[in-house]
Amino acid sequence: MEGKAECEEALDRLFEYIDNELPDDELLRIGDHLRTCPPCEAEHKINEKIKRMVHSTGGEVAPEDLRSRVLATIREARHAD
Ligand SMILES: [Zn+2]
Repeated sequence: MEGKAECEEALDRLFEYIDNELPDDELLRIGDHLRTCPPCEAEHKINEKIKRMVHSTGGEVAPEDLRSRVLATIREARHAD
């Protein structure tokens, strides 16, 4: 698949992307990729949620713990469909 390297790059930079820590051209490139790549967009949404949750707990909960909670929530939501 041609998109593989792009996916790796996008996933690699998700946190920087969410934090707006990338140069404009990379923000645009990764933003474009997320819009056209549902698996990466899903990962982006998960990471955004984790970031918001970490922020709301004042950083007291480990991101890995939040990640598994967010993933469980998403799995439940999919089941409900
Ligand atoms: Zn992708």
